[in-house]
This record gives sequence, structure tokens and C-alpha cells, in this order.
Amino acid sequence: TPRRLVSADKRDDDVDASLRPQKLADFIGQEKARANLKIFIDAARARGEALDHVLFVGPPGLGKTTLAQIVSRELGVNFRSTSGPVIAKAGDLAALLTNLEPRDVLFIDEIHRLNPNVEEILYPAMEDFQLDLIIGEGPAARSVKIDLAPFTLVGATTRAGLLTNPLRDRFGIPVRLNFYTEAELELIVKRGARVLGLGMTEDGANEIARRARGTPRIAGRLLRRVRDFAHVEGATAVDRKIADRALSALEVDAAGLDAMDRRYLSTIALNYGGGPVGVDTIAAALSEPRDAIEDIIEPYLIQKGFIQRTPRGRLLTSAAFKHLGLAEPQRDAA
Ligand code: ADP
Repeated sequence: TPRRLVSADKRDDDVDASLRPQKLADFIGQEKARANLKIFIDAARARGEALDHVLFVGPPGLGKTTLAQIVSRELGVNFRSTSGPVIAKAGDLAALLTNLEPRDVLFIDEIHRLNPNVEEILYPAMEDFQLDLIIGEGPAARSVKIDLAPFTLVGATTRAGLLTNPLRDRFGIPVRLNFYTEAELELIVKRGARVLGLGMTEDGANEIARRARGTPRIAGRLLRRVRDFAHVEGATAVDRKIADRALSALEVDAAGLDAMDRRYLSTIALNYGGGPVGVDTIAAALSEPRDAIEDIIEPYLIQKGFIQRTPRGRLLTSAAFKHLGLAEPQRDAA
């Protein structure tokens, strides 16, 4: 499948590390999360203890990895990073855990995708800083306990509901990240432009922010594409006109929706009379994995009020028909 410009997917990230904020104070938005983290970090530092385990929950591209790095930097400890699907065997995780120094941060991205055998050895590690390993097989098998350095596990997941209860219960500090406001994204775009040495007017930053799907990663990506346009046009600063031309050429519409979003909406509108239609049916019609639809496409469309999740499936709203320029069908009251 072609890369989506506005996808929040990390695998096609072209945003360079220089745009990443390094300190909690430089991190824009997520006021509540930041305020809470600051208190817990200060307290852990003052006591010289490992910070309690932290779980970041929220759609891709909202800053979970960035915050995890900031947490380790603010604690003054090492940052070790891995992801759920990468840890194939219990032994792989055991190796990671036994190499941690006291108070280190171990970041596990996509923690909902841990293999159950691996997840099981995490429980005593998180609770008692102990590894319970079985060595050998059959009658000769014995269990050994290994003490670990007290550490902080920072997990990230797109949806808390994907985690098993015992795992979720072991995080003392659950932090939910929300889509960013336009004003916050404007600040992020301006800061990014400064880092890139690119001239940016207020209305130019606003245009990019409005179309960034509430997501810093997308704001950064749009900023780079707009920069290319500005360079080709020989403009010294990005204003609303240049931003609009660039984003329209990239098929990012005024609401920040891209071709994939519009295909999703128009499929429901045209093939299923506006719904309700089940997510599996939509996934099949679009030839997209259900996960990608639920994690990447839908959260923003729900937030925008373009679709509703109902027990009988996804339902297109009047706003969505209007956005598509389609007449709304007469529906029976459900
Ligand atoms: P996630 O782990 O939630 O998918 P990341 O932490 O990788 O998201 O962030 C994606 C991109 O967005 C990074 O390039 C990061 O620098 C940028 N970013 C995220 N949050 C912010 C923020 N609050 N301010 C500025 N840039 C941000």
C-alpha cells in the first residue's frame, strides 16, 4: 500500500529527531499529563527511588515515545527501548531486564502486542523486581529467581482496552494522551519551523496546524512537505497561501483528511447508506487491516464528529455527508 502522508504510523516516519522536544518544559500541550508526570518525577528523584511504572495510552504520533524519553532524561537515568512484537521469547526480555541499572527506564512500545509467555515474566519483574525463570526441561527443570535492579517500565499502547487486565493493573501511573488543539499544534509548527530555519507567518502556521489531524507527528510531516514547496517557489516564508497550495496538492483537505480518510467515509456513505456497518465489513471493503482502521483512521474521525461508534457498527454523521458534498439519505430513527 502507498504511504499515507497523514498517517500517524511510525514506520513511515520522516520526521527528524531534531524536532523532538528534550525536556518536559519544552513539551507543548498535554497539560494534565505533564503536570502529573512532573510531580511523580520530582518525588521519585527526591526519594532516590525508581519512578513507578508508567503507561501511555493514545493514538499514534501524539508523543508517547517522546514523553518516555523525556521521563528518563528528567530522572537522569538510561533509556532502553524495545517494542512488544520484537520480543520473541521470554529469554529476550530477561536479557533486557538483567542489563538494567538501578532506576533505568525500559520503554516497551506497542506493549499490547507482547507474546503471553513474555508478558508472564513481566509481572514479577514489575511487582517485585524479580525474574522467575524455569531452567531445563522435564523432571530436571527447576525454577530460579533472579533479583533485578529497581527500574521503571514505560509502556505505550494505542488503546488501553487491548491490554490484559493483569498487565494494565501493574502500571501505577496511567497517562492518557489526547489529540492536540489547533493552538497547540500552531506552537509545535512554529517551533519546528524555527528548528528547520524556515520562515513561517502566523497564518501559515495556522493553516498547517488546522490540517494536522490533531497530531504532532503529522504536523511535522506536513511542515517538511510545505517547506519543499516553499523552496521550489523561492518563497522566503511560508504563509497561508503557500501552505494551502502545498497541502491541497498533497490531497490533504481543509479538515486535514487525506485520500484514505475520504475513501473510508465515502465507502460507508455510498456502499452502506451511511451505516451502521461493522468495522470488519469496512476493513474488507477498503482492504485495510482492522487494527489500522481502529487505531489510525477512526479516532480522529470520531473526534471530528464525522462518525459514531454504535453497537450495530459505524454510523456516518450529517457533518460527514456535508464534508463529502453528498446528500444525506433519509434514515429511520434507530
Ligand atoms: P508516539 O510514540 O505517540 O507515536 P512520538 O513520541 O514518536 O509519538 O511523536 C511523534 C513525533 O511528533 C515526533 O517527531 C515528536 O518529536 C513529535 N511530537 C510529539 N509530541 C510533541 C509535542 N508535544 N511537541 C512537539 N513535538 C512533538
